[in-house]
Amino acid sequence: MRTVILCYHKVGPIAEDGRFLNVEPRHLAAQVRFFTRRGGPLASLQKFLGGKTTPAVLTFDDTYQSAATHVPEVLAPSRSAATFYVVTGKTTSDWDGERARPLATREQIVELARAGHEIGNHTHTHPHLNQTENFAEEICTADSHLRDWGLSPTTFCYPYGSLNPAVVGAVREMGYQGAVSLRKGKVTDEDDRWQLPRIVVGYSDGLAGLLYKLYIRPFLP
Ligand SMILES: [Zn+2]
Repeated sequence: MRTVILCYHKVGPIAEDGRFLNVEPRHLAAQVRFFTRRGGPLASLQKFLGGKTTPAVLTFDDTYQSAATHVPEVLAPSRSAATFYVVTGKTTSDWDGERARPLATREQIVELARAGHEIGNHTHTHPHLNQTENFAEEICTADSHLRDWGLSPTTFCYPYGSLNPAVVGAVREMGYQGAVSLRKGKVTDEDDRWQLPRIVVGYSDGLAGLLYKLYIRPFLP
């Protein structure tokens, strides 16, 4: 079990989406080309956990409209798939205050799944699950909404990366096959499938910035 799971949020032109948690489509395209030229098409987390080899797994937290719009066209030429984590009870990322942006509509989410992308569970209202008494309800409510939309979520993403043993246990008990956190690192055989590490990609990361995070920084003293 070896790959790198990348964590993205918005994917839009800087004029529309700014720099906060945004990666421009052209930067994403360069990053995707780097991986696919060396390792073939990218698989979703669901497929990777099912045994498929992939040079990287791309995850898009919150499923912003900008990501739903731009990611499929970036991935289509290499026939790659990504994983989109959906917050079922929100229409904007209101937890970001003034920087809130629209989230994908139900129609857009269903269309992503039809195009071969994975739709995963990112809770109903995006709380810090380790500070929320009804954490299990947050996970279950989102799961049943996604199923009502005809989807079959099998992986989970902890909002803010916040978790504790009870939260991880609830995700496992739902029958999910894996979950992603915000612990930094590449995936190795030693990793717990329900607390997988990721590398966060930000605005300032062109291809060079991403390669630095993946291949140089881990070896610095
Ligand atoms: Zn999130």
